[in-house]
Amino acid sequence: MPSSAKRCSKRLRAEPGGNEPRIFVLIGPGGAGKGTVADRLVAREPRLWLSRSWTTRPPRPGELERGAYVFVDRATFEEAVAQGRFLEWAEFLDNLMGTPVPEPPPGADVLLEIDVQGAEQVLARRPDATVILLLPPSPEVQAERLAARGDDEEHVRRRVALGRSEIERGRKIAAHTVVNDDLERAVAELAAIVEGTRAAAPRAAHPNLEEP
Ligand code: 5GP
Repeated sequence: MPSSAKRCSKRLRAEPGGNEPRIFVLIGPGGAGKGTVADRLVAREPRLWLSRSWTTRPPRPGELERGAYVFVDRATFEEAVAQGRFLEWAEFLDNLMGTPVPEPPPGADVLLEIDVQGAEQVLARRPDATVILLLPPSPEVQAERLAARGDDEEHVRRRVALGRSEIERGRKIAAHTVVNDDLERAVAELAAIVEGTRAAAPRAAHPNLEEP
């Protein structure tokens, strides 16, 4: 964990009664389809709030319009880190990516779509978070999806290589693994995981998010 990631000075907003939102963390290698799956999941599940990350990476075509990220320069990102504004952050292929301390609407649970380093940090703060590993159906489909985004060949090659270790690390912390072979089926499986988790675990106070 980057040492400054611990300097999260805010806590997740507590609701009356001391309840905290549940946290669902979607991880997986590049090309697994996390972004699409996360968008579909929140569209069908209004009590799930998708966090919007900050990044220092330049926008890909269409990303600005979609509001995929808050795009900032490195100095702005580092300043936010110093101010404790992130729940977690990590360096991913030379760019900084971070989750602002979530502020979901009342009654909503939080969905994060982040890398495995970030998921490990979230679990350190919120051991009750539910980590779900999304896998591509095959390495061929994964490489095709990555190339279709318009990233250059070298970036695609690095992401496929990194993806192998992300899967290995991800398996150690994931409570569930979902294969994204068919989008609608994968989203339905995730929705069932969210419902099952809600049914099994009532919301609770989590004092470990308090500032030390
Ligand atoms: P991409 O460049 O494909 O948008 O994202 C690269 C990786 O960073 C993906 O694995 C994505 O899930 C992850 N990522 C996106 N936002 C965050 C974040 O806020 N924190 C962390 N740790 N990873 C993130």
